[in-house]
Amino acid sequence: MKDNSILIVVSGPSGVGKDTVVKEMMKINSNFYLSVSATTRKPRKNEIDGVNYYFFDKNKFDSLVLQNKFLEYNSYCDNSYGTLRSEITNNISLNKDIILIIEVNGGLELRDKCQKELGLKCVLIYILPPSLSVLEHRLKDRSSETKKEIRKRLSVVKKEIMKGLDYDYFVVNDNYFNCAIKILDIINKIKTE
Ligand code: 5GP
Repeated sequence: MKDNSILIVVSGPSGVGKDTVVKEMMKINSNFYLSVSATTRKPRKNEIDGVNYYFFDKNKFDSLVLQNKFLEYNSYCDNSYGTLRSEITNNISLNKDIILIIEVNGGLELRDKCQKELGLKCVLIYILPPSLSVLEHRLKDRSSETKKEIRKRLSVVKKEIMKGLDYDYFVVNDNYFNCAIKILDIINKIKTE
C-alpha cells in the first residue's frame, strides 16, 4: 500500500444504509477495497460466503480469536463479528484505500491499533439516520430480520449513537447518493492534507 493509503471505517446503526452508501461510493470511485468481515451470524438470503462475509460457526470463530487472527472482534446482537488481520494485510499491496463497515466498538478499537500495528492512518465515519423513526421504517422495510431481531437491533441504537460521538466525522444519510458524495469529499480532504 502506498504511504497515503488509509483505512476508512464506516459505522452507523442497523438500517441506516451503510452498505448502500458504500456501494454508491465504490461506483463513483473504484480505488477502494471493501474488507470482508467474519461472522457467526447465519447468512441471509442472497448472501455469499467469502463475498458478503466469511460465515464461521462459533467454534471456528473462537479458535481464530485464540490464534490472534483478528485485528478486532466484537459481539453484536448475540453474534460475533470480526476483522481478520489477513483481510487487511493481504490487500495492503493493492494500493487502494480499504473500507470497513463495522460496528462502533470495533471501529474505536481499530483506530488505536491501526497506526500502532499497521502504520496506517484510519478515519472513522459515522452515518446517522435523519431521525429514529426513519431508521425504524428502513429496518422494517428491508425484511431481512425477524421482528424479534429488529426489536433487539432497535434497542441498541441509542447506545451505539452515543459511542459514535467519539468518531471523527458524522454524515446524515437522507439520500444515499448525497451521503456517498459527502463521505468521498471527507476522504479527498484527508488525503490531500
Ligand atoms: P449485520 O448482521 O447487519 O450484517 O451486521 C451487524 C453489525 O455488525 C453492523 O453494525 C456491521 O457493521 C457490524 N460488523 C460487520 N462486520 C464487522 C466486523 O468485522 N467487526 C465489527 N466489530 N463489527 C462488524
